[in-house]
Amino acid sequence: ALKVAIVGLPNVGKSTLFNALTQTASAQAANYPFCTIEPNTGEVAVPEPRLEVLAKIVGSKEIIPARINFVDIAGLVRGASKGEGLGNQFLANIRDCDAIAFVARCFVDTDITHVEGRIDPLADLEIIETELMIADLESLEKRLPQLEKRAKSGGDKDAALTVSLINAALAELRDGRPARVAYEKGKISKEDTKAWEMLQLLTSKPALYVCNVDEASASTGNDLSEIVSKRAAADHAKSVVISAQIESEIALLDADERQEFLETLGLEEPGLNRLIREAYALLGLQSYFTVGPKEARAWTIHVGDTAPQAAGVIHTDFEKGFIRAETIAYEDFVKFNGEAGAKENGKFRQEGKEYIVKDGDVMNFRFNV
Ligand code: GDP
Repeated sequence: ALKVAIVGLPNVGKSTLFNALTQTASAQAANYPFCTIEPNTGEVAVPEPRLEVLAKIVGSKEIIPARINFVDIAGLVRGASKGEGLGNQFLANIRDCDAIAFVARCFVDTDITHVEGRIDPLADLEIIETELMIADLESLEKRLPQLEKRAKSGGDKDAALTVSLINAALAELRDGRPARVAYEKGKISKEDTKAWEMLQLLTSKPALYVCNVDEASASTGNDLSEIVSKRAAADHAKSVVISAQIESEIALLDADERQEFLETLGLEEPGLNRLIREAYALLGLQSYFTVGPKEARAWTIHVGDTAPQAAGVIHTDFEKGFIRAETIAYEDFVKFNGEAGAKENGKFRQEGKEYIVKDGDVMNFRFNV
């Protein structure tokens, strides 16, 4: 499963958030820097209310949601790109992830030390983004001369392409912007996406700013989170407001108590659900479903995947021997109360190799073995 790195300065609430996400006490939360040393990885179910609806219609015994991983990454301080704190380790762990959730401290609590001695989430984010930008800048500048030589000597088309991508990234980084901006502004052509990703830049990874607010602001956000959300838009990042403290309490409650607690807080669902869904979308992921008496299950695919690629997620044989995909849109499946009803109403489609699977498709694959 794909991995989302949880990143931020010490004492912003990363471990609290990670614990809530994974509902374990394994990532110790404590009031001092560098509490989390080894990266902790936790698998998290992607909340999917549609699966319950499908399971009810079909009478499925079990519900199997899609999953993504969150990695709690050791606290970063100013100077990480120079090896300060757990700098190098920290950067390597982030490089290994597919997207980044930056946690910004938007709660004021004088009992909890802030490494910089003040509450300023934007400045915090800038410290981190700056470290990542410096790391990218230095690694690219190191790689560039060699590649330029190869590109100049002619013949090496890959090197020439890489050089142009590196220069596009450097143009943003030298102006103090994350490399992702080059891609978002359309300066990298879509055909070169793979090569762009191969550069393995820290600041080209999709980013989500997590505003960790005080308990009282869980449903509304506060002045600080507003500032961060505005900044996210400018950085081509997403943002989400959450109270890690409350989420860790919600995570410990059973279903009934949880509902009641959420209502008193004015929340429709745990903030974590929003966070997980945002992260899933951030990774360019979506789900299709398979249903049967045994299970109703979500399968993870990339936006734009074809039917055979989607089949391959279940089993490589499904992709190799793909014949066709029997498909019903989720809305039709619900509206006509299952497959038989959907068939009667002409909503049961036979789709071929070229079909681009849509989020929520209920599918059954026909294949040769
Ligand atoms: P990390 O260093 O970023 O992993 O931060 P931790 O998750 O260990 O949190 C540091 C301290 O801040 C702990 O004492 C937490 O209980 C506290 N904390 C985390 N989130 C919140 C929050 O939303 N509100 C308040 N008041 N305290 C929080």
